[in-house]
Amino acid sequence: MKFLEYINEAVIGTYIKNLKQDLHTALVKVPINSRGSMFYILNKYFDKDKINFKLSRKNKEGIEGYIDPETLKIDIEIGIVHVLFTEISMLVQHLSEVITHELIHRDQISKSNKKASLYKMSGNDTKAKAKEYLANKYEIMAYAAQTVLALRHEGFDDESIISMCKDPEAWYDRLLNSRAHIDIYLIDFFKATDPTAKKFKKYVVEYLEKQK
Ligand SMILES: [Zn+2]
Repeated sequence: MKFLEYINEAVIGTYIKNLKQDLHTALVKVPINSRGSMFYILNKYFDKDKINFKLSRKNKEGIEGYIDPETLKIDIEIGIVHVLFTEISMLVQHLSEVITHELIHRDQISKSNKKASLYKMSGNDTKAKAKEYLANKYEIMAYAAQTVLALRHEGFDDESIISMCKDPEAWYDRLLNSRAHIDIYLIDFFKATDPTAKKFKKYVVEYLEKQK
């Protein structure tokens, strides 16, 4: 199955766009520091999509997503730092990136006969384990889409994204504080000639093409 078949612009692209708008409206109705209200609204809003939000117990600063391969339910864990200090528009952007990642997994699992073999990471995993996780085909695809979204949210146009893929070192300083995974895939964990790095670049370009 080709990557493009996993991503249906009409379904996911529009979904995320609308979602962003409505979620933003929903969120601004309550104070950002009232975390009970925020989670209440998120869960009420996303219940029909089988996406559940909760406060992360272990990760204070990140947003992490998980999908149950059996029920296809998605859990999004949000760190307390985000809940208390992140601007709503930033939070919505970051959430939509993580949700996109998990929706791609949902699509992969739904379309796969033998179920996409998703890789579970635990907090104490070594670099070798992390590398194995990142090299999983389904993760590369999900991270490629998440990366495109993150870079666009950070103000990069599609040409810059392609140029980053070609010469990531030249963009390294600007990628340092980015939510995108280009530096992880193309510099920190894999060499440019590594099959995983090549796949990542390919999926980023395919995702961009699909969105035109
Ligand atoms: Zn994943």
